[in-house]
Amino acid sequence: MAFNTLEPIKIDCPVCDIRSEHQFQFETGADYKGDETGRFCLRFYKVGDKLAWWPSSDARYPLWRQYTENGGDSAKEQIEMTCPNCRSSLIVSLAFESLYIIGVVDVRISVQAEPSRGAADE
Ligand SMILES: [Zn+2]
Repeated sequence: MAFNTLEPIKIDCPVCDIRSEHQFQFETGADYKGDETGRFCLRFYKVGDKLAWWPSSDARYPLWRQYTENGGDSAKEQIEMTCPNCRSSLIVSLAFESLYIIGVVDVRISVQAEPSRGAADE
């Protein structure tokens, strides 16, 4: 699967409240094809950047958000991460609007990992 990388950003863990830095890989706006600037994958972006992609006049334009929940010309990609401090499994929502990277809009505890191990052991 083609992907791009977001430059490190700080995430506040909802479990332990510790802030840590993470570098996420995401599939929104990623494709092995490309244009004269190169492939639309293996690029580094930061929040606020516009993803390199085909123009909106191109039939392939809507494919930029094919791997995500979306509505209109926006996208929200769910990315799994582990808190380096408390090891909680978290899901980060990375939002996009018309190819622009809006940023992380939600950090929540992964439902699969939620059973509160630890509290009962202590
Ligand atoms: Zn944590």
